[in-house]
Amino acid sequence: MALCSYCEKPEVMPFKCKFCGEMFCADHRLPENHECLGLRRFKEERGREPEKWIYEPFHAKHKEVPVGRAPSKSLRDRLEELARNLNTRTLLYVILGVIVLVLILSGLGAL
Ligand SMILES: [Zn+2]
Ligand SMILES: [Zn+2]
Repeated sequence: MALCSYCEKPEVMPFKCKFCGEMFCADHRLPENHECLGLRRFKEERGREPEKWIYEPFHAKHKEVPVGRAPSKSLRDRLEELARNLNTRTLLYVILGVIVLVLILSGLGAL
């Protein structure tokens, strides 16, 4: 049980605002509905440093390589890149998959 920081109505299931950290009722849980100070601060910061909030690929400074002139990669380069991207967990799943497959196959053989 908590009181809504905006209308002071007792709320059994209060919502915590992720911007200002205050508790609100269902009606005022959205930052827009409680004149959220945290949201205002967030917007001010975004206004000051808009670059920080732009998704990387759309960033003005993001270098784009024209498709036609992209350096062509040899098959070996691609395979090496793929091997580098495979992390241990993926490898573990592959190994587990193989083990399960072997078990199933040996089970079928025993029938
Ligand atoms: Zn309220
Ligand atoms: Zn808020």
